[in-house]
Amino acid sequence: MSLHAAKKLSDNPTDQQKTDYSPVLVNLEAVHKVYQTGTIALHDVNLQITQGEFISFVGPSGCGKSTVLRMIAGLGEPSSGKLEVLGTTAKRAREENNEVAFVFQDATLLPWRSVLDNVVLPLELRGVPKQDQQREAMRVLEMVGLKDHVKALPRQLSGGMKMRVSIARALAAKPKLLLMDEPFAALDEITRQNLQNELLNIWKQEGLTVLFVTHNVFEAVFLSTRIAVMTPRPGKIATMIDVPMPYPRKETLRTTHQFSDIAAEVSSALVH
Ligand code: ADP
Ligand code: MG
Repeated sequence: MSLHAAKKLSDNPTDQQKTDYSPVLVNLEAVHKVYQTGTIALHDVNLQITQGEFISFVGPSGCGKSTVLRMIAGLGEPSSGKLEVLGTTAKRAREENNEVAFVFQDATLLPWRSVLDNVVLPLELRGVPKQDQQREAMRVLEMVGLKDHVKALPRQLSGGMKMRVSIARALAAKPKLLLMDEPFAALDEITRQNLQNELLNIWKQEGLTVLFVTHNVFEAVFLSTRIAVMTPRPGKIATMIDVPMPYPRKETLRTTHQFSDIAAEVSSALVH
């Protein structure tokens, strides 16, 4: 056997593992974004996100968090650099393959439609058979704890419940990648912590990859496998911080030394 062949053989299992267990779902290489106004929103952003990760983006207002997320959703393109989502363009991954869903801070529900009909909407638009629409909507509404409120109208719901509907609507399309832009920012602390726990359960249960924008360092630490700390002028990823705490993450974790140490590390990266 030639040396070359031996090397190939020994390399193969490693290559195989990479492709089988942790494909890169989102790939950004040297991404720059300059808006027409001349604002440099992003400067040289490099990021590889593998399947099953929960990545949070933290940083002050204006550092480009929403710009990154919107580009990954196919809403706006990089001015230069490479962006791949689920092995294709961001636009195709979301619009044609329905593999990417987006949840905003504002739940954006249709006020005249019931909870169930709001969740059914994206399935209707995709031409999913009516019976399947109802079944899938009920499945995700149960997952977010709303199966007893399916007939309610949005105005009858609390802020936390509206956000649950919005999450259910995103999940109904069975996305692989869930993008969330400050989804819990307008909620009170208790509701917020409940939703964080529920989101982690859903993330595991559905085998999702989540990209989550927040201002809140503690929220980022509680949820994430890794945190992208962003800094402004121009917007860039200052550092990536691993959160090596096992899941499921219990409420008591929030008061541990390890938790506060990681939060301190993130906070200090924010101000440098
Ligand atoms: P963040 O979400 O971190 O607050 P954004 O991504 O919304 O930051 O914005 C990054 C920068 O780009 C800011 O300076 C913002 O004013 C600017 N910006 C965002 N969207 C637009 C747009 N559509 N046109 C021009 N400038 C924009
Ligand atoms: Mg934003």
